[in-house]
Amino acid sequence: MALTPMMKQYVEIKETCKDCIIFYRLGDFYEMFFEDAEIAARELELVLTGRDCGLEKRAPMCGVPFHASSMYIGRLVSRGYKVAIVEQLEDPSKAKGLVKRGVVKIYTPGTYSDTSFLEESKNNYILTLGVNNNKCTLVFADVSTGEFNVTSFDYDESILISEASKYSPKELLVMDSIDDKVINIIKERIELTLTKRTSDIFNINEEKLIKHFGQSVLEGIDSTAKLIICGALNYIIETQKESLNHINKINFYSVDNYLSIDINSRRNLELTETLKDKSKKGSLLWVLDKTSTAMGARQLRKWIERPLINKDSINRRLDAVEELYNNLAVREDLREALKDIYDIERLVGKISSKNVNAKELISLKNSLGRIPEIKNLLKDINSELLKDLYSNLDELKDVYDLLDKSISNSPAITLKEGNIIKAGYNEDIDTLREAKENGRIWIANLESKEREETGIKSLKVSYNKVFGYYIEVTKTNLQLVPTDRYIRKQTLANAERYITEELKVMEEKILGAEEKLISLEYDTFIYIREKVEHEIERMQKSALVLSTLDVLASLATVALENNYVKPVVTGDYEIDIIEGRHPVIEKLLSNGQFVSNNTILDEKQSFMLITGPNMGGKSTYMRQIALISVMAQMGSFIPASSGKIGICDKIFTRIGASDDLASGKSTFMVEMWEVANILNNVTDKSLVLLDEVGRGTSTFDGLSIAWAVIEHLTKNKNAKCKTLFATHYHELTQLEQSLDGFKNYYVGVKKIDDELIFMHKILEGKEDQSYGIEVAKLAGLPKSVVERSREILESLEGKKSVNAYNVSYDEVSVTEDETKEVEESKESSYLSDNNSMTQITFESLEKDNLISTLKEIDIVSMTPMDSMNMLYKLVNEARKL
Ligand code: ATP
Repeated sequence: MALTPMMKQYVEIKETCKDCIIFYRLGDFYEMFFEDAEIAARELELVLTGRDCGLEKRAPMCGVPFHASSMYIGRLVSRGYKVAIVEQLEDPSKAKGLVKRGVVKIYTPGTYSDTSFLEESKNNYILTLGVNNNKCTLVFADVSTGEFNVTSFDYDESILISEASKYSPKELLVMDSIDDKVINIIKERIELTLTKRTSDIFNINEEKLIKHFGQSVLEGIDSTAKLIICGALNYIIETQKESLNHINKINFYSVDNYLSIDINSRRNLELTETLKDKSKKGSLLWVLDKTSTAMGARQLRKWIERPLINKDSINRRLDAVEELYNNLAVREDLREALKDIYDIERLVGKISSKNVNAKELISLKNSLGRIPEIKNLLKDINSELLKDLYSNLDELKDVYDLLDKSISNSPAITLKEGNIIKAGYNEDIDTLREAKENGRIWIANLESKEREETGIKSLKVSYNKVFGYYIEVTKTNLQLVPTDRYIRKQTLANAERYITEELKVMEEKILGAEEKLISLEYDTFIYIREKVEHEIERMQKSALVLSTLDVLASLATVALENNYVKPVVTGDYEIDIIEGRHPVIEKLLSNGQFVSNNTILDEKQSFMLITGPNMGGKSTYMRQIALISVMAQMGSFIPASSGKIGICDKIFTRIGASDDLASGKSTFMVEMWEVANILNNVTDKSLVLLDEVGRGTSTFDGLSIAWAVIEHLTKNKNAKCKTLFATHYHELTQLEQSLDGFKNYYVGVKKIDDELIFMHKILEGKEDQSYGIEVAKLAGLPKSVVERSREILESLEGKKSVNAYNVSYDEVSVTEDETKEVEESKESSYLSDNNSMTQITFESLEKDNLISTLKEIDIVSMTPMDSMNMLYKLVNEARKL
């Protein structure tokens, strides 16, 4: 059996886009077949039917009405599918045999630009990735806005993950020959759709590059970068089936120009979304976002994701925020004016992809109409960045005037109904409109004229799409109808419909004028759209200025509302924050509840070890310092009473449990992987936050690792980074005596009548108690368990300093008293239960026993035979260990 001709055509088309769900146009429906139908029926909750396809079994089929298709496409794309639209390419009434069909557009998650499905405040990126000769090139493109970012670096797994996580791309495009390992690195951490293509798409076409990006694009980029850029561009053009004019500028950037924050730290610091439920509320973005426009909201997200490291650039932003902070009138008027600005970036994208309607052009006009006012607001401004923005803000008066005189103020949404062009713009349109209007008046007059002539008072002149204009007479008045003039057209139950010669002639005039009018209005609209399209680059430039102004005004407003101060950002080592606060937690607590804390990290004190009870506020404090640094380096004021921020190049955090089960690693493995990444990549300009490193394994292993990590960080002369280290291993506090730059801090807590009161104050010194059992009690652990914990703790505490002594590092001096204490506690540390901690303790004690036996031997008073026997015994003991 063979497929029917139509199904054969379907299968042939499907072969060309195997990874897409095919929406195959049949009349007023898009139909899906075979496996596509099964997927679509499941995802879109459609009824799965079948269709004869020529084979023994019917082909599974489902369909959606074409006029409602965008909703279904949006749903599939947002779930990671690709959809190819197959249209009839010729008029079915004129086609001989099977109607020719072909793919007219491909919707994919990373190239999707339908604004009704995209989040306003987020860009929608596709990442194109290539690795060659150990060089990695990444292209992040957003088809909806025309953004096209390119970076290259020596291949490094953590940079790759970090860059990808900044942009959160929805789709990854790679050449099919790429090593799967590289793909997996990204796929394991970011949810995206993978598109593998053969080298057909990845070919260098310099002509195309120049057409899009200008001659200068070829300067200074290597062939790998060219290849990946061409791959990205070709794929976008292939899916959109258009060459898009709004993709006209490459933003080449170096990863070294931005503060580096690895993927886990980004998540831990909750920069743009919370760890727990990925919501904006509770993130830094949530606190800082008072933007008025969608463009500003996206820009702010970029600033948070990519803080700067260049002192001058940071200070330019800070000065601008300061000026708006101090200038209430400009700030408020600016924010008010910005509220009326639509998403010019995405409107420009729609113009370029020829998807814009007249209503959207009116939105564009209204937005452009506010620019002169905004420009005027900035005319007396002093700060450098605001001055630059002022001079780069193109008022686009010509585009405004064109739209103002051409597009009607409340136009029809579709372009094929007329009513889009304003009166006075085009003479022919005015004439046709007049003819149409006169015809209408003539018809309105016809009714009274006919009523008078026939004497039928209920006579009506009406219009419908099938019969056009007609005269309607009820059955009771039929005897009055002038049969010489009236021609019967239709009979209804209680009326007859007629036309007259005169009416027919006028109808042709009216309908002819209407048809011509619609087509002339459409052509005129296309002409206007093309004229506006010529100005895309100018509009993009102004859009960038407006979004930057929006971010600056938002930061100034937030600073004022939350009592932030301008940080002093320097190229020095030191971070000095007075009365710093956590920007998010302070918003979540009621007013005045948050306790501020100071921070000094300088050459003399680069390492802060923080001990103290659970729930005391250690993590909050550490995060607050990282967030304050991020805020300062993105150009924001900071939550503190004053702050001096030495610019960091990298922020590393090892906070909280970041399970990475998807990549097959255990919690402890992930922890160690993160610590290894930190130790291998820190520089002396980095800020490192380590929270309870080592807690994921046995106590002694954990303590030993924590200890060694601290030594590594404080002794590494080449990379003396600033570190905050929170721990419950109180033994580590003694390192203060031996390590340079190491300082102990603890979080204050008061115990009144068995009740814990958290002070949330970071104080110099050490806290020997964890109050873990008290916190467990607060959390509602059963009374019996709390009491038993206390008993166990008491017996364990007997060997407290043994733990520290057993992990004997040469660098750490152990005093004689401590040694004595160890000896004395040997007995009490021998617990009867068989847990791992006791075993380790016991084994260690055996070693101590051996050492102390050795120490006690008095060789002088022993016979040679006794000495031999003793030696034999000791060797045997040692071998047992
Ligand atoms: P653990 O050792 O159990 O991880 P922790 O010491 O890290 O605890 P945090 O998680 O930082 O404690 O803080 C616990 C809670 O205490 C926070 O959720 C917050 O509600 C409150 N808190 C922390 N710091 C402050 C502060 N400076 N002012 C007021 N409340 C605070």
